[in-house]
Amino acid sequence: MKIIEQPAHVLHDMLVKKELSAKELTDAFFASIDKSEDTLGAFVTLMRGKAGKDASIIDAKIAQGEELPYFAGIPVAIKDNICTKDVKTTASSKILENFVPPYDATVMTKLYDQNAVIIGKANMDEFAMGGSTEHSAYHITRNPHDLSRVPGGSSGGSAAAVAGGEAVCALGSDTGGSIRQPSAYCGVVGLKPTYGRISRYGLIAFASSLDQIGPITRDVTDAAYMLNAVCGHDKMDSTSLKEKAPDFTKALVADVKNLKIGVPKEYFADGIDPQVEEKVRSAIKSFAELGAKITEISLPHTKYAIAVYYIIAPAEAATNLERYDGVSYGVRVPGKDVPEMMINTRSQKFGAEVKRRIMIGNYALSAGYYDAYYLKALKVRTLISQDYVEAFNKVDVIMTPTAPTPAFKLNELTGDPLKMYLQDICTVPANLAGLPAISVPCGVNSQGLPIGLQIIGRALDEETLLRAAYTFETAQGIPFAVPELNNAEGGASV
Ligand code: GLN
Repeated sequence: MKIIEQPAHVLHDMLVKKELSAKELTDAFFASIDKSEDTLGAFVTLMRGKAGKDASIIDAKIAQGEELPYFAGIPVAIKDNICTKDVKTTASSKILENFVPPYDATVMTKLYDQNAVIIGKANMDEFAMGGSTEHSAYHITRNPHDLSRVPGGSSGGSAAAVAGGEAVCALGSDTGGSIRQPSAYCGVVGLKPTYGRISRYGLIAFASSLDQIGPITRDVTDAAYMLNAVCGHDKMDSTSLKEKAPDFTKALVADVKNLKIGVPKEYFADGIDPQVEEKVRSAIKSFAELGAKITEISLPHTKYAIAVYYIIAPAEAATNLERYDGVSYGVRVPGKDVPEMMINTRSQKFGAEVKRRIMIGNYALSAGYYDAYYLKALKVRTLISQDYVEAFNKVDVIMTPTAPTPAFKLNELTGDPLKMYLQDICTVPANLAGLPAISVPCGVNSQGLPIGLQIIGRALDEETLLRAAYTFETAQGIPFAVPELNNAEGGASV
């Protein structure tokens, strides 16, 4: 049994039974990082020193017979847009290359309460804008299943670390698919909870009405445990929901009898790779064999989702990113006066994709265009949400592909932003409607590339998603494995 391939629930039991120490576990992961990280490039910052110290503290607790919280001693990777006190947090941008937050995000406080061992800050597309992690200002990340391909994005570092044996689980953030899509490309489980389920306090904002933090894990059980660990109301986030969260692990029941599954025809339209369609349809068929009821449904406004998202997300981003002006945060590039300093800082330290989003956002928000673009997009967003409300009168969950294709080649789409945006077609609607959605592995294509099944649920009904995903995972019975990184074409780090 390879330690670095185990999910958190197996490792937790081993730690409790003293079959393994927290120090040994952390060392095993850093040994794996030493072997693979030059190839994968999953991290922006490694936290070796702190991780080692934290592991020793946990071992002392174990020695004293203290009860261990679930994530005690478990090596976790954190996307680099989540603020970590005294640890550099760059959002993979040059403009924050020297930013050391004076506080922890709420999710970090919660993970530290659980005695999780944080091993590093994971690479991402700059400010979470992108779907391939190629927009990181630092270096690319490679897909552990095929090193010539992207890991997806924007939480590509988090997904590659979990898939590649460099972390047991990770936190990512999802504005338009950034947890689910890289999870699908890397063959792991990614959950975007209901908007407001997990506090965004300390998450570097991209598009505040869409952003949500969530777990990336090796199996559905760990996703439920991680959601338990980090969710809940937070007075520091005004959009945080007051609803009391259930114990999500209670939903880990292998039973989908009479579950009503909707399959929206719009998600299987042109542009879906035939092998993706085949795997997703056969996954849905296996739910029918397990007693679920499958119905074809229609979500007629799906065709507008990309256009709506690429107005709303850049509009909010343009506003959120105004704060990086060389004054309060991050890097300053000098100029002869304040306006020139600001222009120099922003023009030299933001990357091309971030500038593109700021320009689109400010354009959509400017006088004369506001009504035609931004307001119109908000109205269509409501129509997209209403499609789901109607669908959920008839079905309990909706199943679709997570992404239209498996992981694409590095550099394949960087020259064509619009094509890159179209990769988000299956994931952005759940963000626009604020709904929970999970991606679970549902097989590989003929080249061995992982494919993800997306399950979308009613607001606040993560439990049904977890139950469906758990049932499917149990029925498949394929244990998580770290692929051999033997198809290296060169280092990823710079
Ligand atoms: N790929 C999408 C974008 O580029 C989603 C990003 C995200 O969810 N953070 O905006």
